[in-house]
Amino acid sequence: MQIGKVIIDIASSLVDKIFDYLLPENEIQVGSRVLVPFGKTIKEGYLVEICQNSDYDPTKLKKIISKIDKVPVINSDQLELAKFMKRKFHTGMCDALRLFLPSELRNGKVKELIKINCFIDDELKAKEYLSKQRKNATSIIGAINYILENGSASQTILNKKFNPSSIKKLIDDNIIKTSEEIVRRTPYKSVSTEIKDDIVLTKTQQEVVDRITSENNIYLLHGVTGSGKTEVYMHCMQKILASGKTGIMLVPEISLTPQVLMNFRSRFGDKVAILHSGLSAGERFDEWERILFGEAKIVIGARSAIFAPLKNIGLIVIDEEHDSSYNSDSNPRYSTIEVAKERARLSNCSLVLGSATPSLISYHSAMTHEYQLLEMKERINKKELPPLKIIDMGNEIRNGNNGIFSTALKEALTKTINEGNQAMLFINRRGFASFLMCKKCGFVAKCADCDVSLVLHKHENALKCHYCGNRYKVFTECPQCGNKDLSTGAVGTERVVHELKTLIPNVTVSRMDNDTTKTKDSHLKILSDFRSGKTQVLVGTQMIAKGHDFPSVTLVGIIDADVSLYQSSYTASEQTFELITQVAGRAGRADKAGEIYLQTYVPRHYTYKLASYYDYPAFYKKEINLRQVTMYPPFTKIIRILFTHSDENIAKETTKVYYDEVKKLQQQYNGEFVYLGVMKSPIGRIQNKFRLQVLMRIKPERADEITNELFNIADNMDKNKATIFVEINPQNLS
Ligand code: ADP
Ligand code: ZN
Repeated sequence: MQIGKVIIDIASSLVDKIFDYLLPENEIQVGSRVLVPFGKTIKEGYLVEICQNSDYDPTKLKKIISKIDKVPVINSDQLELAKFMKRKFHTGMCDALRLFLPSELRNGKVKELIKINCFIDDELKAKEYLSKQRKNATSIIGAINYILENGSASQTILNKKFNPSSIKKLIDDNIIKTSEEIVRRTPYKSVSTEIKDDIVLTKTQQEVVDRITSENNIYLLHGVTGSGKTEVYMHCMQKILASGKTGIMLVPEISLTPQVLMNFRSRFGDKVAILHSGLSAGERFDEWERILFGEAKIVIGARSAIFAPLKNIGLIVIDEEHDSSYNSDSNPRYSTIEVAKERARLSNCSLVLGSATPSLISYHSAMTHEYQLLEMKERINKKELPPLKIIDMGNEIRNGNNGIFSTALKEALTKTINEGNQAMLFINRRGFASFLMCKKCGFVAKCADCDVSLVLHKHENALKCHYCGNRYKVFTECPQCGNKDLSTGAVGTERVVHELKTLIPNVTVSRMDNDTTKTKDSHLKILSDFRSGKTQVLVGTQMIAKGHDFPSVTLVGIIDADVSLYQSSYTASEQTFELITQVAGRAGRADKAGEIYLQTYVPRHYTYKLASYYDYPAFYKKEINLRQVTMYPPFTKIIRILFTHSDENIAKETTKVYYDEVKKLQQQYNGEFVYLGVMKSPIGRIQNKFRLQVLMRIKPERADEITNELFNIADNMDKNKATIFVEINPQNLS
C-alpha cells in the first residue's frame, strides 16, 4: 500500500503537520498539489512524500481525491528548501510551500490563457455549406468567408465580429474546427527582446567572472558604483546558460526597472523570466509557468524570485545584497541571503552577493573567509567618484539661513538647472512634515490606533499615520486650545518639492516616494520622465538611491542625512553610510562631472567623514570595532520576541510567561546571553494592538540551539493569548 504524506493548504500553526492519505490508483507524483478530504470539507494540499507505511491504522485513512495540476509544481530542491525554512526561521510548512507558487494559483484564481483558434480544414465542404445558406444568414456567411480569407481566426474575434450562436453552430456542424493554444502574457512587452552584441569585459571584470564560474563558493563582490557589476552578472549567467544550467538574479524590488529588464532581454531574449509584485496575476502566472516548464532559464526578480521553480541551477546572484528589502519582516519572516545560501548548497552552485556597500555582516564573513572577497575598485569610465561636500546646517542658522537648503546647495541647484543638467534631492521622509504641533499648548496630532504622531501630507490635505494608514483631517487651529499658531515638524519630500519650486519657479520636479508610486508602473513613469529630461529634478526617499543610471545627473543633494543616522537601531551608522554612498553614486555617471552636497547638524561624525572619502574598508574597521566592543551583530545574534494583543493585560501576561521561560533558558545556557530584557516596544501600540517585547543578545556559538528553544517555547504557549513573533537580527525594532 502506498501512503501519501500531505501538507494541507491552511496557514495555521494548528494544522501545520503532515497528514497521511491513501494514494489513488492513478499516479500522482511528489510535489503535486492534491485535493483531499479534510474533516467535513475538501481542501487543497501538497503531496510531500510517498512511502509504504503510516503510523495510523491504514484502514482508517482517507484517500487523496485527485491531483490539481497536470504536473508536480514543487520540485525536490524546493521541498528541501521549505524544510530548511521551517528549521531555520520557524516558518510553517504551508507558509513556506506557498512561497513557491504564484498566490493566485491557489484556489484556482488564475489559469493559463487559452486562445481558441478557428480554422477550416475542408474548404470544399465549407463552400458547399455556404451555397446552401439563405441570403439573410449573413453571420454564417460572413464568418466562413472571414476564415477563408484569413486562414484562421481566434474564436474571441469571431464572436465579436459575428453572432456567437452562429459560430457555435458552425463548430457543431463541423465546418469550423478549433484548436487550443496557450497564450503567454508577457510583462513589459514593449521592452525589446532583440539580442544585442556583447560588451568586451575589462580585465578586472573578466577576472571576476572567471573566479565565479570556476569554483563553487559564496562570493562577496565589492565593487564601487559604476564598476560594471551588472555586466559581470550577465556574463556569468551567459556561461551558466552555455553549460545547460539556469540562474537566478535578485535585485531590490525598486530597482527592477525596464532598463534592467532591457539589459537582460537584449542579452538573453525570452530565456529571461521576470518575477515581482508589479506584474498582473496573469503575467505572474505565465512567467512562473515558463520557468516551471523550462522555457525560461534565467529568472530576474525581487526577493521572492529565490523561490522560482527552476531546476539545475548553476548560479544565484543577489545584487545590492545590503538592501533591507531582502529581509522579510512580516510573515513568513526570513532572510533571503540565508535562503539563497541553502538553495545554492542544494544546487551545488555559486552564490554571488554584490554591493558597493556590503552589509557589515557580509563583509565580516568575507574578512573571516567564510565568503570569498572579490573587488572592483574602479569605475568603468575611470572617473573618480564625485566629490562629496559636507555642509554644516548649524552654521547656516548662525548665518541667518533658516531654510531647508544651505546657501551652497541653493547656488548649486540654480547652476545645475541653468546649465541644462539634472539634480536629485534625497530626503528619507515622505509627506510634508513629520508632525503638526500647536505652538501654544504643545498638542501634537496622534493616531487613534497607534502610538505615533501623524505626518502632514499637504498634497492630499491629510494627516496620515505611517504605521496603519489611517487618515485624519488637517486642522488649522489647535483642537485642544484653539490657538491658530501651529508649527510643523521635520522636512519631508513634499516640503522639499515645495521649497524647490519657490527657489526656482519654472523648474520641473517629480517626487518619488511611497505616496506617488502606489499604482502599477507609476514609479517607472517617474523614472522614465526623469531619464528623458522631461523633469529636471527628482526628489525622493531611498527609492531614488538604488541602482538607477541617469547620465545627466550632475548634482545630488542629501537634504537631511541625520534622519538616517539618528534612527534607533544598532545599524544606523551602517545604513547611513550605505545610503550616502548609494545616493552619491547617482551623480556623474557619464561624461559630466558630478557633485554631492550632504547637509547635517553633525558634520564631524565619522560616518559622514568616511562616506565623503568613499572609504568603505575604513568605515568597516571603525564600525566592526564598535560592534565588537558593544557586543552587537555579528558578534552576537539579536533576538526579539514581539507580543501583540488588543488587550494590554493579555499582552503583558503572555510576555511575562514567556520571559520567565527565557530566564530559565538563560540559566541553562549560562554565559551565552549577553543581554536579556523585557519592555514595551518603542512603539507601544500599532493598529490598536499593544506591543511588548523580550529582547536578547546571544553569543553566536550556540545561538542556533537557543533560537530553537525559543521557537519551542513559542510553540508551547497558549495559542489564544497574544500573538508571538520571533525575530532574528531585526533591523527595525519599532
Ligand atoms: P554597477 O552595477 O557596478 O553600478 P553597471 O554595471 O551599471 O555598474 O555599469 C556602469 C556602466 O558601465 C553601465 O552603463 C554599463 O553598461 C557600462 N559598462 C559595464 N561594463 C562595461 C564594459 N566592459 N565596457 C563598456 N561599458 C561597460
Ligand atoms: Zn495608525
